[in-house]
Order: sequence, then C-alpha cells, then structure tokens
Amino acid sequence: MYDYDLLVVGSANADLVIDVERRPAAGETVLGGDLAVHPGGKGANQAVAAARLGAATALLARVGDDSHGRLLLDSLRSAGVDTVGVLVGGAPTGVALITVDPEGDNSIVVSPGANARLTPADVRAAGSLFHASRVVSAQLEIPLETVVEVVRNLSPDSRFVLNPSPPRPLSSEVLAACDPLIVNEHEARVVLGDACVSEEPADWAKLLLAKGPRSVVVTLGAEGALVCDSSGVTRVPSVKVDAVDTTGAGDAFTAALGRQLGSGASLAEAAEYAARVGAAAVTKRGAQESYPTAEEVDAL
Ligand code: ADP
Repeated sequence: MYDYDLLVVGSANADLVIDVERRPAAGETVLGGDLAVHPGGKGANQAVAAARLGAATALLARVGDDSHGRLLLDSLRSAGVDTVGVLVGGAPTGVALITVDPEGDNSIVVSPGANARLTPADVRAAGSLFHASRVVSAQLEIPLETVVEVVRNLSPDSRFVLNPSPPRPLSSEVLAACDPLIVNEHEARVVLGDACVSEEPADWAKLLLAKGPRSVVVTLGAEGALVCDSSGVTRVPSVKVDAVDTTGAGDAFTAALGRQLGSGASLAEAAEYAARVGAAAVTKRGAQESYPTAEEVDAL
C-alpha cells in the first residue's frame, strides 16, 4: 500500500515572466510588459500538475528562506501537494527569467539557487518518501549526482520517470532505471549525442531505447508524442487547441503520464491522457496556474 501516487524530486523556482513582441537576439534589448511572478520550476510544476489531477503527491525539493520560497510553498499546499519533503534554506530560491512572445513561444534563463543545494544526502534522508511512493519522477534542474542517488533509493516495486531537462548526457545507470525516459526534440538530440544519426523522431525513440531505458516517450509539441518500448513505436495524437503559452506543457505531460502509469494504465494509454493534459496546459497563461483538473481534462 502506497501513501503517494507520485513522488516528484526536483526544482522549485520563482518564474519572473515578461511578455515581449519579439524575444531578444544576442546583444539586443527589447521593451516588454509588466513583470509577473509565478511559482514554477520543473519539480514544483510536476507536483502541482499531478495534485490538480487528483493524485496523492509529494515533492522532494529545496527552496530559500525568502519570499519566493514562501510563494512556492503556498502554491504547492493550495494544490494539495504534501510539502513534508520541501527543505528550506541554504541559498536563495531558484529563479527563472522568462520572456514570452505573442505566439506563446518562450526563452528561459534559470538561476538554480537552492535547487543546486538539493544533495544526495537529502535524498537518503527522505528514504521513507521513496518507500511510500508508487511512481517517482525527476528532471535535471537539480544536481545530476542527486538524480543518481534517487535511482539508487527507488524501492523495488516503484517506477521511475525521468524528463532530462535541461538535457545533458546520462549514465547507463540512470538510463537503465527510466520507465519511461521522456524527451522533447532538443532533449532527444542532447541525450543521444553522437548516436543522433537521424532526423526522424521515431528513430530517436528507437535509438534512445537502445541506450538502456525500459521505455521512451518523445514529445512533439502540437504534433503529440511517440511512445516506444520493446513492442515498437506508437504515435499518440495531440489534441487541437489554441496555444496561448507553452510554458510548463512538458511538466504537465510528465506528471500526468507518471500519475496514469501509477494507476495501472499502459504506456500508450498514459501518454494519450498526458497529451490531453499537455494540450489543456497550453490554453492558459503560466505554468502551474494553467494545469487542469481531471474534470477539465475529461471535458476537453
Ligand atoms: P516541452 O514543453 O518539454 O518542450 P512539448 O512542447 O513537446 O514539451 O509538450 C508536451 C506535450 O504537451 C506534447 O507532447 C503535447 O501532447 C502537448 N502540447 C504541447 N504543445 C501543444 C500544442 N500547441 N497543442 C496541443 N498539444 C500540445
């Protein structure tokens, strides 16, 4: 019996967002609209997305003892996330500087702050959370050695879901634990490195699977996603929506997928549901504020 459907291990950031007519090129300054401050970070986003869908969710993360940290804790708690694993102090809360253009495309710079101080020792100290969780998900806005420790602390029956974002090459130990590894196009190219010998997403999925994960999902934005395991590659259609802001769509997708896998769905079924959650998330501004409830997903 598990206490949590999903344990997310990852980052919590304050997102400082400015709307711009055009995202600046190197060396260029552009004027934008008023600054908006939102709770974000891939870990906190995933936790909030899962909790809004009704999953019993815990987050293992670190925030600063500052106003951004309190904003994050408030947002997590009001979504229903158990914050017993959110550690406070050690550095300022992580910050993401985000510009969004009229097409809804964004550019992001992240200052990791407290996220960089989430250590392997913090993972070991949270052992009871790992034993209590059916599915564990992580991203790479925390130190890689911390993610390695997550893999080493998984309980034998739990399932590990990794979105390697921002991407970097992964060890075979981490890759072998992923079920699935979830990547967008950019992440697929970086994780594949020299093995990226094709321009076809279906080939990326197969090449990634050959690196050791038990399954792979390639997300393709408005084109939906591909799922790949030992039985082959399956296309998951997207839901047609008017995209307003794509911030956090991948986080919503990953959280929804982890949640559905924990409920016993097949990978293809879980990805189909996750694509609807991702589509719902791009129809509203922001990341956490844009995440749908299960009823809103059903209505889509
Ligand atoms: P990331 O945010 O990590 O780059 P994607 O942009 O691929 O990830 O989005 C994740 C998922 O969200 C997609 O696989 C898709 O299901 C859904 N999604 C994203 N953008 C759109 C869109 N414009 N229309 C419909 N669904 C979308």
